[in-house]
Amino acid sequence: MKNRSLLMIPGPIEFDPAVLAALGAPTTGHLAPTFMEAFGQALERTRTLFQCAKGQPFVLAGTGTLGMDTVCANLVAPGDNALVINTGYFGDRMGTILERYGAKATHIRSAPGAHPTLADVEAALKTAAFKVMTITHVDTSTGVLTDVKGLADLGRRYGALVIVDGVCSVAGEDLNMDAWGVDAAFTASQKAVGVPPGLALLVVSSRGMEAFKTRKTPVLSYYSDWSNWLPVMEAYEARKPVYFGTPAVNLIFALNVSLGQILQEGLDARFARHIRMSRAVKAGITALGLGQVPQNEEIAAHTMTAPRYPSGVSGSDLIPAIGKAGVTLAGGLHAEIRNEYFRIGHMGAVTQGDVLATLGAIETGLAVCGYKFESGVGTAAAVKFLAAG
Ligand code: PMP
Repeated sequence: MKNRSLLMIPGPIEFDPAVLAALGAPTTGHLAPTFMEAFGQALERTRTLFQCAKGQPFVLAGTGTLGMDTVCANLVAPGDNALVINTGYFGDRMGTILERYGAKATHIRSAPGAHPTLADVEAALKTAAFKVMTITHVDTSTGVLTDVKGLADLGRRYGALVIVDGVCSVAGEDLNMDAWGVDAAFTASQKAVGVPPGLALLVVSSRGMEAFKTRKTPVLSYYSDWSNWLPVMEAYEARKPVYFGTPAVNLIFALNVSLGQILQEGLDARFARHIRMSRAVKAGITALGLGQVPQNEEIAAHTMTAPRYPSGVSGSDLIPAIGKAGVTLAGGLHAEIRNEYFRIGHMGAVTQGDVLATLGAIETGLAVCGYKFESGVGTAAAVKFLAAG
């Protein structure tokens, strides 16, 4: 295909042809038996994906921000305390939404590229009775991966409901709601889940649903209110017709295809593949002499990489030069360091070929921008890593 650019931003990503074909199929009615089957199966598969055997899945038309909105609207009430483990841009957004629904948000922040220690979080948890604690699994503005297991354990010990923003992690990083004690987690279709933008996926634990069902005040958003959506999700899982708001029929057919592929690959194999692709990209970036935003490898995401620009090279030159070489990458997002780094997404159906094409385009872009390096050294490092098995 002429003029095709490889889309390697942290969402939306490159999508599998079978998923795209489902989007282009004739639209059925939302009560058609084939649609009820696809939606019911997609809900069951969503529960499996989030590793929450008794959790309540919701699949809603909207973006990842709707996932954030609906969790906050349903799990907090005016006057509640909320603790936000803030590792970047999306922690700020979570705080804004919590406050919109009347909660008092306390942020624990760290420098861009770092994350708060468990000791910092425990000290904060001692300062008030927090109704919820929120964690961004991978903050897409920094590429920092948080220790959800350790943090969730702490939050639970202090009686908080644990909410995880998994928009840049679910289906790419291991997120085990049951084993780690997570009460609500959400993602969006356009990232590692592998479906074009337009769906929010959410799973709520039994404890989370109990907190919702026993809340004393009404949910302050009509569209986000689980009272409206719970009967819909329950009916589709029972393959029974129901209506509240017209489901995004083609996106849900496409979601079911993608979830089928994800579970066919197997979650463990999929997480291992993401780690492998991530290490190959990071080996290439390091060999080129570029630093990264996350302070060390243990806290760097496997769904994306956030390389720093080398000195003398600016994003406004480099990103278009990489684009000309056939690969679309994203610039910085974190306000404090926006012009110091760029972002590569490597999730979902990402292949070795995509990784090598991306590193090749980055090298081409760097050369065009006058950066001095040994030509081929980045791709060679990735090839060496991949060849080692
Ligand atoms: N949280 C995180 C971690 C994200 O990366 C994003 C999107 N980049 C969002 C929330 C919001 O998702 P959306 O853009 O689909 O509303």
